[in-house]
Amino acid sequence: MKILIAEDDAISRQIIHKILARFGRCDAVVDGAEAVEAFQLALEDGDPYDLICLDIMMPGVDGQAALKEIRELERRMDIRGERGVKVIMLTALDDPHSVVEAYYRGGATAYLVKPIEADKLLVELQRLGLITAEQRQAVRGQ
Ligand SMILES: [Mg+2]
Repeated sequence: MKILIAEDDAISRQIIHKILARFGRCDAVVDGAEAVEAFQLALEDGDPYDLICLDIMMPGVDGQAALKEIRELERRMDIRGERGVKVIMLTALDDPHSVVEAYYRGGATAYLVKPIEADKLLVELQRLGLITAEQRQAVRGQ
């Protein structure tokens, strides 16, 4: 699995990286503009990401705006529906407006409210079909 982590907070970035690194290659960027760029480069290389963990609150291009650009790039390349990258939005705010925006307008696949914990993240990965129940249990047993 190929994973992109877009998170401006260094500690959150490290925590997510540590949880996900065992499941594949993890690249990390610090804002939405870099996330869109990394996503586009991977698409153009024919080696797209399977999962993006996208923080909503980031300087410059935030997570919502980055997600819209990412879905627009996919549309232009005729990548639709299930074939699109799975995107988990990360938010520090338990903010219904952000969540609704992310789901229905931006095309998020899921969202998680911070603090990010291994269990919560792995439940989502399993729900999205990115890891198996056995993989999730193996991590919990460590
Ligand atoms: Mg942030």
